[in-house]
Amino acid sequence: MSEAKVISFDLEKANFHIFPYYCKGCGLCKEKCPNQVLIWSDKLGLYGTPTVKPKDEDSCIACSICEMVCPDCAISIEKKKKMKAAR
Ligand code: SF4
Ligand code: SF4
Repeated sequence: MSEAKVISFDLEKANFHIFPYYCKGCGLCKEKCPNQVLIWSDKLGLYGTPTVKPKDEDSCIACSICEMVCPDCAISIEKKKKMKAAR
């Protein structure tokens, strides 16, 4: 059965949220991510297929392409505000 709750990852540039109950495991997000950040997860999605997760905390550039290409709105990218430059 797919997970009913959102799974969130606290990354360096973004909070990455995946909604397993929307993900059908098509792999489009994985394919379109410019930094190959996404890998298959052992959390199962809608059809008992794997969902995705970020492979590490610092390779995501918070571009939101994965969120835009997902046909099922299973990903939400919450960009973090930039740290102020040190004076
Ligand atoms: S926000 Fe961009 S870099 Fe981060 S996982 Fe999604 S597509 Fe990849
Ligand atoms: S594009 Fe959406 S439905 Fe397809 S694997 Fe990625 S999160 Fe799941």
